Formats: sequence, C-alpha cells, structure tokens
Amino acid sequence: MIAKFQWQDARTVQDAIAQLDGTSMVKAGGIDVMDRLKEGLDSPATLVNIRTIPGLDQIREDATGLHIGPMVTLDQLDKNETVRASYTALADAAGHAATPHIRNVATVGGNILQRPRCWYFRNEQFHCLKKGGDRCFAQDGENEYHAIFGNQICAIVHPSAVAVALLALGATFEVTGKRGERQVPSEQFFVRPDEDVHREHTLAADELLTAINIPKPASGTRSAYMKLGEKESFDWPIAEVAVVLGARPGVVLGAAAPVPWRAVGAERILAGNPINEDTARAAAKAALQGATPLRNNSYKLPIFETIVRRTILAAARA
Ligand SMILES: Cc1cc2nc3c(=O)[nH]c(=O)nc-3n(C[C@H](O)[C@H](O)[C@H](O)COP(=O)(O)OP(=O)(O)OC[C@H]3O[C@@H](n4cnc5c(N)ncnc54)[C@H](O)[C@@H]3O)c2cc1C
Repeated sequence: MIAKFQWQDARTVQDAIAQLDGTSMVKAGGIDVMDRLKEGLDSPATLVNIRTIPGLDQIREDATGLHIGPMVTLDQLDKNETVRASYTALADAAGHAATPHIRNVATVGGNILQRPRCWYFRNEQFHCLKKGGDRCFAQDGENEYHAIFGNQICAIVHPSAVAVALLALGATFEVTGKRGERQVPSEQFFVRPDEDVHREHTLAADELLTAINIPKPASGTRSAYMKLGEKESFDWPIAEVAVVLGARPGVVLGAAAPVPWRAVGAERILAGNPINEDTARAAAKAALQGATPLRNNSYKLPIFETIVRRTILAAARA
C-alpha cells in the first residue's frame, strides 16, 4: 500500500528547491516515481510536482549547441527536427525507450535520474547492498539482465537510454540548488558502486536538474544509437549503444554496467581511422575488452559486439 503523502505544485525552480528537504521527492512525469511508491522503495512526505513550472519543457539550439529543458518529453526529443538531424543518437535513444504512451509523459530529466530496474533492488523482500543491506543478490543469483562491466560490488545496469546518448555527445548537466547553479560534465555525473553504492548520480536531495547542454557538433559529425531487447515492442534493452563519429569519437554502452559505460578502446580505434567494415569490427571487439560477465549473462558479449559494429556503420552512413 502506498503511504500517504502531500502534493505540492511548484511554480518556479526556486519554489521547488525550497521544498526539497530530504523528506520530499521531485515528480516530473511520474512514471518511475509511481513505480517506486508502489514497490515500497520510497515513501516521501511530499511529492514536489515540477510539471507546473513554466519554461522547463523547451528545446533550443544556438551557436554553442543544444539546450534541453529537463521537462522535455522523450516524444519531443524523438520528433524534434534539430535533434534528429544533428544529434541523431539522442533522438533515437529517446524514440526507442518504453512505449509511445510512456514517451508522451516521461521526461528527459526523469529518464536520466530514474532508479535501476534490478529485480532484487525493486523487490521489497531483498534487502540488497543498494538499500543498506550487506550483499548484492545478483552476484550469485538470477543475473541474466545484469552488468558485464564494473559489476564486482553491485551488478545493476544503468537504466537510462538517454544518458547513453548524452555521454557519447559530451553533454553537460546544469544543476540548481540552494547554493546556486553548477555545471556537471555528464562523464562526472554518474556514480559507480565503488564510489557510493547507494546512489547513481551526484545530484543532492535538495537540487534540481535544470538543463542539459550539448556542445554544437563540429561539421561532419554523425551519430547513431541502437538497442536490442528480447522483444521489439516496449522491452528494456539487453544491450544498447550510442556512437558519435567526428573529431572526438564517442562509443557508450548501455545495459552494460552500473553507469553508462564509455568503450575507450573502441573510441581509440575510431579516432583518426577511416570508418569501414574492418575498423568497425576491430572497434567492436575492443569495446568488449575487460568485460567480466556473470554466470548467466555472457550471452550479452556477442550481442554487444554485433550492435557496436552495426551502430558504427550506421553512424557512418547517417
Ligand atoms: C514498461 C516500461 C519500459 C521502459 N523502457 C525503457 C527503456 O527502454 N529505456 C529507458 O531509458 N527507460 C525505459 N523506461 C523508463 C522510463 O523511460 C522512465 O521511468 C521515465 O523516463 C522517467 O521519467 P519521468 O519524467 O516519468 O520521471 P519521474 O518518475 O517523475 O522521476 C524519476 C526520478 O527522477 C527525479 N527527477 C525527475 N526530474 C528531476 C529533475 N528535473 N531534477 C531532479 N530530480 C528529478 C525524480 O525525483 C525521480 O527520482 C521504461 C519504463 C516502463 C514503465
């Protein structure tokens, strides 16, 4: 049963921040928040609805790049012509997440900040490491959908498709709190279990994500995103990848690790080399170096290798 809570419609960013005191929780689209209330993972005294703050749902491009409000929906990102033309991996990541109904409501901010879907974490009966317990049940348990990198302490996979594309595109997150505003490069935003197993990002309880900024891609930059799930309709990915080809290539794997996972070996091979079947194959192999699959998920290795190769070639054709 969901515990009783107060509902507050915030009118401004400062109004919302003033209400964030550790016992309250931000609600954007509410997709993940509702699940967590029902699953007994969270029982806030107050839900602070930020949907009522005007102006946070805009996409704007200027000479420095793309600026996305946190309340922009996944559907808006998918359908926006500028995003699709110049930041294609982001449009495709947003457009392949969940279902059309969910994409109409789910926001980019909420997608980045949603909590992991690990079935041990989500189930009240398992007091796992992430919830203050003393073990990660996935290590010896049912781990077919879990991480193949960085999984030694906690084997969740980071759930956000959008984050995979944003990291590849070199995005920065604008965070606003009681002490003002800070800019956090996406590369420093996500928290690995060995840094702090209880959290997935550096946002404090009294801070809001207020913008996502992507630097303008140099001319000739191309990108692509691909996802593979058990079924095409609305499944979570088994493997996903975003690739950016340009002066600074980016290859980022999703559903692979507790954070969006930069495949540095693959990026090195793509830098300065012509993109063809051979380099794509070599980069895909390099992307999987250092993987530490668990008992039931080594099947993910060839899947990742295939989609990394295909996504590199798709970006080259874009
Ligand atoms: C069936 C199903 C399939 C799905 N498949 C996918 C998939 O394939 N890929 C994928 O990426 N996702 C998938 N999702 C997840 C879904 O996309 C996310 O739950 C959704 O994007 C969350 O967005 P929201 O606006 O509803 O966030 P909310 O539920 O409102 O918030 C999520 C979290 O973010 C915090 N928050 C939100 N906005 C802010 C802000 N601006 N500042 C500070 N904190 C904030 C909230 O406090 C909460 O902790 C799926 C979900 C379902 C139900």
